[in-house]
Amino acid sequence: MKKTAGIHHITAIVGHPQENIDFYAGILGLRLIKKTVNFDDPDTYHLYFGDDAAKPGTIITFFPWTGAAQGKIGGGQVGVTTYAIPIGTLTYWENRLAKFTIQYEKTIRFDETYLQFEDYHGLQLELVERAAGQLNNWTFGEVTPDVAIKGFGGALLYSTDPASTIETLQETMGLEKVSEENGLVRLKAYGDLGNIIDIKKEAVALGQMGVGTVHHIAWRAKDEADHVDWQDHVYKQGYDVTEIKDRNYFNAIYFREYGDILFEIATDTPGFTHDEPYETMGHELKLPAQYENIREQLTKTLIPIEVKELD
Ligand code: ZN
Repeated sequence: MKKTAGIHHITAIVGHPQENIDFYAGILGLRLIKKTVNFDDPDTYHLYFGDDAAKPGTIITFFPWTGAAQGKIGGGQVGVTTYAIPIGTLTYWENRLAKFTIQYEKTIRFDETYLQFEDYHGLQLELVERAAGQLNNWTFGEVTPDVAIKGFGGALLYSTDPASTIETLQETMGLEKVSEENGLVRLKAYGDLGNIIDIKKEAVALGQMGVGTVHHIAWRAKDEADHVDWQDHVYKQGYDVTEIKDRNYFNAIYFREYGDILFEIATDTPGFTHDEPYETMGHELKLPAQYENIREQLTKTLIPIEVKELD
């Protein structure tokens, strides 16, 4: 029986890259940990945000497609991405969202209070206080480590076939069902971040990929050897799983579960400091070897972006 520790990263499609940076760094205070290009379309960025150390379980990645069509949030997607904040900081975050005129709603599920809001491009987010998970040792603007987002609390999934998705999470990914209420099932992985997965028990009609939607959710594998085991395991469970792909900062395999959500399994290794040091992560445009020869051209055609404090 294989068990994932929880979410490795979540990847979403958004609009203009500067608006993306302003929201996730400027307002949410996350660290831009990697500035690279879409390996399949090097004229566009692939931006990564996480905690100071780019730990698995903290990483959200974006394909900013300026001018692309808005997607439709629905079945086969992560409906809401959940971030964990330190205990006692919910009021701080309410004030901070208000300061930037971000509208939010407060909701309660499984006895926890959530602040729900959306980013500039319609992606659904929420903050919840959790004791688990290390503090994020990153200061950006007025967001200091004592209040900073620690990483993912988890996610709320929308499935076109919830019973199958729940079964996949339990039988294939090794999560445990811990609770059920108000049409939601809660599952838990053993890690301390990105480990609480809620899923709507009612089937949700298929969404449509585009700006403001999550493209896929990636689960953690320990290292390359563990990853090979995962590929074999997923295949033996009957899924059509891809070959192992080198994503520079991790290895990846993909399969679509029967509720239409695209699952990835990604290695914790080699991580995000293998091509630039901790201190300057995210400063330079990092390119995979196959694009180094067009670096000069790319620096002219890519939209200029800047990480700047908004406080
Ligand atoms: Zn991914």
